[in-house]
Amino acid sequence: MDTLKIINEVKIEKLLHQGKNFKRAEIIEIINKGRRGKGLSLEEAAALLQLEDLDLMEDLYHAAREVKNTIYGKRIVVFAPLYTSNHCINNCLYCGFRVDNKHLHRKTLNIDEVVEEAKTIEEQGHKRILMVCGEDPRYTTITHIVESLKAVYDHTDIRRINVNAAPMSVEDFRTLKGAGIGTYQIFQETYHRDTYRQMHPSGLKKDYDYRLLAINRAFEAGIDDLGIGVLLGLYDYRFDVLATLMHAQYMDETLNVGPHTVSVPRLRPAIDAAIKETPYEVTDENFKKIIAVYRLTLPYTGIILSTREPSKLRDELFDLGVSQASAGSKTNPGGYHNEDHDAEQFETSDERSLKEVLKVICNQGHLPSFCTACYRAKRTGEVFMGLAKEAEIHEFCQSNAILTLKEHLLDFGDEELKEIGDQLIEKSLEEIENENIKELTKEKLKETEKGKRDLF
Ligand code: SAM
Ligand code: SF4
Repeated sequence: MDTLKIINEVKIEKLLHQGKNFKRAEIIEIINKGRRGKGLSLEEAAALLQLEDLDLMEDLYHAAREVKNTIYGKRIVVFAPLYTSNHCINNCLYCGFRVDNKHLHRKTLNIDEVVEEAKTIEEQGHKRILMVCGEDPRYTTITHIVESLKAVYDHTDIRRINVNAAPMSVEDFRTLKGAGIGTYQIFQETYHRDTYRQMHPSGLKKDYDYRLLAINRAFEAGIDDLGIGVLLGLYDYRFDVLATLMHAQYMDETLNVGPHTVSVPRLRPAIDAAIKETPYEVTDENFKKIIAVYRLTLPYTGIILSTREPSKLRDELFDLGVSQASAGSKTNPGGYHNEDHDAEQFETSDERSLKEVLKVICNQGHLPSFCTACYRAKRTGEVFMGLAKEAEIHEFCQSNAILTLKEHLLDFGDEELKEIGDQLIEKSLEEIENENIKELTKEKLKETEKGKRDLF
């Protein structure tokens, strides 16, 4: 397949160039169009990415907040990463796991250790995991990934496992689908071919096209919840964000399903990274702009925020369009049992526990959700996107968020969290407009209080 048809660099440059010429009134019009929650064109997104006027940025943030609240309600889905291996044959200049890093303590968890890690994550109260690993065919085989998935589903109460792993063949993706993967996530890192070549000098990851087409292979294998993103800081964010949107548009038009999620990883210091400085620094203000542009352009795509970002900024971003956030994360294999900083992929920034993060989310009036219902009710891919566009599903989502938060409060909450959480549940219940769903939720809340779990 000609991948230039997926990511057309000349067109991206042209759109960004044209994006500089929009007048203030035109930008206001684009923001107002975005506010209606029907998405934006690449031309319009390019214009917003060129925005520097702080007043207009405030308008943009406001619109992103509105779209997030209309489409997702106040829910923020929480999860934790589980690193299974830091053995890697690639040499990504920015990553602590790269093969040339001789100081890194290497470790691949055996299946029992994977389950032990998952149990510790579960004890924090999580229901959703993102499994992450390096790329080394001697250690991270498809069998290792699949056995890890099955063992965690069998031996813990974790209900959804998403995977961020190296691109694979259609056949291996099929095996992964059979093991019950949630979302398959893969970041192109940068869509800019020259920069990609410089950043990935050796190893299997050198092949830009093989990585780009992983989404098509996964889809062919039946995985239709797919997550994309770029590593912000490697190249000009305007180019890379617009390219991500171009990739999303391609997915929508060709696969009939846009990305389920877009992640916004921003480059962090890593042990012995070959690049000591961020090549294209992304300021906090521009980071906020990126999230807002994603929110307006792809209103039905989840935006995932990791603990790479500092706590104060994260708290601000919860309000700006982010719909999923990790919390209490460790980035070394075995990290939930052993704080070995010399085995980490990169330094996390928000080091707060899940409990602390939940308190902030609740105090802001957002509704933390541990819901995994859609995936288990087979509402994925095109079906999910279709439903997401209908009003009623939001009432169910709100109901599921309330029920999973209640479970969490009962099983893991301290006094303070229980108090804030219960007040939020009362308020969130009242926001459900459909009387039937409201009554059903109240009944299920009572059953949850009596000890029933996983009602959706
Ligand atoms: N090894 C597989 C790969 O590269 O696709 C999957 C897992 S890799 C550990 C997950 C992601 O971590 C990468 O796609 C990259 O975007 C991100 N990452 C790597 N180094 C980073 C750093 N120094 N700071 C922030 N994120 C980083
Ligand atoms: Fe390996 Fe992934 Fe790190 Fe690259 S980003 S060195 S492929 S773990």
